[in-house]
Amino acid sequence: MDLRTIGVLGGGQLGRMLVEAASRLNINVIILDKPSDSPAKQIQATKSHVQGDFKDPNKIKELAQKVDILTIEIEHVNVDILETLSKEKKEKIVICPSPTTIRLIQDKYVQKLHLFNNNIPVVDFIEINAKDDLNLVSEKFGYPMMLKSKTLAYDGRGNYVLHSSEEIEKALKFLGNFKTPLYAERWISFIKELAVMVVRRMNGEVKSYPVVETIHKENICHMVIAPAQVNGLILENAKIIAEKSISTLSGAGVFGVEMFLMSDGHIYVNEIAPRPHNSGHYTIEACETSQYENHLRSILNIPLGSTMLKVQATAMINILGKSEDFQECLKPCAESLSIPGTTIHLYGKKECRKGRKMGHITVVADSISQLFKRINPILRIIDENDS
Ligand code: ATP
Ligand code: MG
Ligand code: MG
Repeated sequence: MDLRTIGVLGGGQLGRMLVEAASRLNINVIILDKPSDSPAKQIQATKSHVQGDFKDPNKIKELAQKVDILTIEIEHVNVDILETLSKEKKEKIVICPSPTTIRLIQDKYVQKLHLFNNNIPVVDFIEINAKDDLNLVSEKFGYPMMLKSKTLAYDGRGNYVLHSSEEIEKALKFLGNFKTPLYAERWISFIKELAVMVVRRMNGEVKSYPVVETIHKENICHMVIAPAQVNGLILENAKIIAEKSISTLSGAGVFGVEMFLMSDGHIYVNEIAPRPHNSGHYTIEACETSQYENHLRSILNIPLGSTMLKVQATAMINILGKSEDFQECLKPCAESLSIPGTTIHLYGKKECRKGRKMGHITVVADSISQLFKRINPILRIIDENDS
């Protein structure tokens, strides 16, 4: 579909699914990641992959020399070199999303401030520079209170729920005693978490995917249900807020907008991912065009595909590592083999660890009740494994 080559910083499961979509379109993708057999490299046979860290400026430069467009599957990359590359006149390269957006999103505090300044609803938040700040903030926010790392956070690993002042020391130790900067958020008793994937093409065309419900366990996404089981007004509002949030950021690509829904219908934006997102895996089987294909189309500046659901209901269940034993993860997958409408995705990760995303199962159905009949046996096995 296009002769240009795309370079991807990061070679995990998101890169792997991006490569899957690219291969159907004959689009050449080159991956930068440390392991020579990272999930994305495993399924793209080329000698051109770059072996190295996506934080290493020299390796990013090496990748840039081989490609026409650079994109990311993880935001924790070296953004200084991306900025330099985007300014170099001689060998100007397209970088999606823009380095400015990547930098802004890398720091969750700066990101929140940006959203707040653009009148996007966010929960109360405040910078924490010393232990005493926490005592002061607790008077305002009360307990529980969420303490978060500003940077390098994923799967809730930079989060700590503080229940009382006695836990402050433990929380600070857990989050590295200010080695990475911190901020606090008011605790939100949401009734549901919602997410919307929004895709924007280079020429400015925007499409969004259906509003989904995301269900987290211990801060990690456990399951996604689409369409979200909320009323039409909330669906419309979530879509408007998601699109408005993305309109404040520059660059082409797909973005995941995570939100909290309150019992009175109020919606807050939690955070934005400037790339394909876990809450959009379901689009591979359940939408007319997947988030991965539309990410490619958006950065290549070719017409976006429809983002409509082509089934009545769908769920995505993450397969998370229980221990070092990968075989444990295969139990829910084995169960799903005999359930109609299921698709198993395993990521080819060499090491299994507790909480690591090893794969996912997508289930499609003709109705919400049929969907729950189909997913319940899978969830039961995951619950048994957990207990
Ligand atoms: P991701 O893997 O999505 O990047 P992350 O490490 O950046 O995750 P957050 O998205 O900030 O972490 O938080 C993870 C989860 O923790 C949220 O999805 C939500 O379930 C819970 N959470 C986050 N902030 C709050 C809050 N202020 N109040 C209550 N729960 C929260
Ligand atoms: Mg995050
Ligand atoms: Mg999150």
